[in-house]
Amino acid sequence: MGKQAIISDRITAEGRVSVLIARPVTKPYDYLSNGMDLKIGDIVQVPFVNKMCLGVVVPSSESDVANQKLKLVSDKYGEHRISVAMLDFISRAASYNMIPLGAVLKMVLNVPEIFNFSDKIELLGQSGTSCLKNFKITPQRKLVLDAIVKNGPQTSAQIRNNTGVGSGVISGLLTCGVIQKQFVEDNFTPQSLEALDKNSVELNNEQTTAVECLRNVVRQNEFSVSLIDGVTGSGKTEVYFEVIAEVLKKGFQVLILVPEIALARPFIERFSRRFGAAPVEWHSELPAKKRRRIWRAILEGNVNVLVGARSALFLPFPNLGLLVVDEEHEPAFKQMEGSRYHARDMSILRAKCSDIPIILASATPSLETLHNSETGRFRKVSLSQRYGDATLPKVELIDIRSSENRNGSWISPMLQKAIQATLERDEQVLLFLNRRGYAPLNICKVCGYRNECPSCSAWLVEHRSKSRLQCHHCGYNVKVPTHCPECGAEESLVAAGPGVERIEEEVSQLFPNARTGIASSDTLSNGPALTNFLQLVKQREIEIIIGTQVIAKGHHFPLITCVGVLDADLGLAGGDLRAAEKTYQMLHQVAGRAGREERAGKVWLQTRQPDNPLMQALSNWDRESFLKLEKQARSEANLPPFGRLVSLIVSSKNETEADQIARLLAASAPSTPRAQILGPAPSALAFLRGRHRRRLLIKADKKLNVQKMISDWLGGLKIRGSAKVEIDIDPQSFT
Ligand code: ADP
Ligand code: ZN
Repeated sequence: MGKQAIISDRITAEGRVSVLIARPVTKPYDYLSNGMDLKIGDIVQVPFVNKMCLGVVVPSSESDVANQKLKLVSDKYGEHRISVAMLDFISRAASYNMIPLGAVLKMVLNVPEIFNFSDKIELLGQSGTSCLKNFKITPQRKLVLDAIVKNGPQTSAQIRNNTGVGSGVISGLLTCGVIQKQFVEDNFTPQSLEALDKNSVELNNEQTTAVECLRNVVRQNEFSVSLIDGVTGSGKTEVYFEVIAEVLKKGFQVLILVPEIALARPFIERFSRRFGAAPVEWHSELPAKKRRRIWRAILEGNVNVLVGARSALFLPFPNLGLLVVDEEHEPAFKQMEGSRYHARDMSILRAKCSDIPIILASATPSLETLHNSETGRFRKVSLSQRYGDATLPKVELIDIRSSENRNGSWISPMLQKAIQATLERDEQVLLFLNRRGYAPLNICKVCGYRNECPSCSAWLVEHRSKSRLQCHHCGYNVKVPTHCPECGAEESLVAAGPGVERIEEEVSQLFPNARTGIASSDTLSNGPALTNFLQLVKQREIEIIIGTQVIAKGHHFPLITCVGVLDADLGLAGGDLRAAEKTYQMLHQVAGRAGREERAGKVWLQTRQPDNPLMQALSNWDRESFLKLEKQARSEANLPPFGRLVSLIVSSKNETEADQIARLLAASAPSTPRAQILGPAPSALAFLRGRHRRRLLIKADKKLNVQKMISDWLGGLKIRGSAKVEIDIDPQSFT
């Protein structure tokens, strides 16, 4: 492994070392080793601009600063260090995305107080005292004591989980002195994945072929990219679980990236059932101590399998054997703020630097990935059929322009009938509308005033459940005003257009006896809320789900046999290059929720463009003809995956300044037949969080070293004041 490492492991003589600091710096700085035995990859603490900073020892840079001027390395982390392959990845990720080298390292060392080794955890165990006055045993108290006798000292959370008692019972026992606290070193408990061979399912023929092919791939143990292209419900997850088992058996580590960890609860449970232990989870909400403990365990090679969202890509596994990117087409893999990068593409780069295989999985792979598999760069394994007797649901288009469907309701008569029939069969309905809140717009019916965010060019969205108007871009929110802020009219503000809350209101009027539930990022913002919601659906406590994209993907609902997409055209508005592709992927996923077991399902798409090739392709499950048209259009315009795009976003608090810099950039643009530079133009969100934004778009030939062109171009530019120029390599959207 690490065959391709371009970094040598030379370290300068005379106790001088180069240290890359985990701050947005572009090069390493030299320090004196302070008598420590330092090697490449060692994590150290060094003084930098009057602060103690984290850094990593890297191969020596050419520096002519005299020894006397150098500062001393102040501390070294320990015996475990960042691998050479990882350092290679850091440097390549920095140059590809045009992010400062140190900013990438910062993502790798993104742990609070790495040098804090004093973590302790509190366990509850038996106390020595045996007979106590005033102590009454209750059934709940007995549960706790039995659990402690059986399993030894445990954390309060473990006891609560294992016994189901509340924290009151535990503190009662502590007060009586029957149990007592003890503090132990906060060590990571290794995963015991003993069921590597045990729980595997019996695969069908297609799945067997896929597993055999991918097992061969991982046996080669070298860089390669494989795509599992399989319809929803075909068993992609089952297939890569088998491959993961193979890699774990060899003692390598596996990293699984998912688009959103908050929605991965069902996945994690499924993994635990298959492997007998849960994967370690990595996400931004881990408390500091736990984050530190897990990160250390990863660095020490004690974490076998980890599931995380995009940031997990930067975790310092020493001996990774396989990367899996599930739902590789998901826009959530793109980090859009701060250090911008695409986690799927960076995973491929990481696999390359470590010389290991990577598997991408999707029912609707991105055009980029399909293109790479057609040109032979990626291997493709296909699963064309749903597992078992499940068939793909029939898709019917409902033309909502026609008079019989304009019935003053968001739900056309045909769809209403289908819902009614589904409820009568005791089955379930999913109504999909990708709009949070009650209404996307709040308007004064007297003067026409629209409530807009003060810091963004965006309308405020009404959330009636909270009686607030909210900006979905910056989070700004206010109470719904009682008077129009413009003309002062009383009670004149009305909702325009529907969001999920408004649809639920209508559904409750149409089907007063049906039990409904809203699924959006507002209602399912965390793992427990999602688990609870899925449980309610499973127990049929919810019969009609009204949901946004959070519920559209991945979930397995056997009793949903009717899916209604209320506004299939929604994603097509706005001039995003990927609008059609994203709409296709999203609607395909939503449709894939219907009829996942033996009961057949049906999908209804309400649209104003029934003749649009995209709607036609969706209604026939004809991905190939949609892709053909889309590829042709992209190829003619030399757009990705045929050409490359880079966005430059100029922003400033001052509008004139933003315009000036954008024009200056355009005027100094390099001239080359290999790239076209478009703009400046206002961004789709021309005003965001109080900043005015302008965009330039670079359309380049794939062969052009666009990073070099940009750095030469921007290198001479002096930017003052509040202005900023951000670079977005391979932008996924143009907001
Ligand atoms: P995908 O990831 O392609 O959407 P899944 O792996 O989630 O598909 O499989 C869909 C459903 O079918 C799941 O409930 C899964 O457990 C089940 N399934 C798939 N393959 C098998 C198999 N070989 N044996 C038993 N159940 C299977
Ligand atoms: Zn805003």
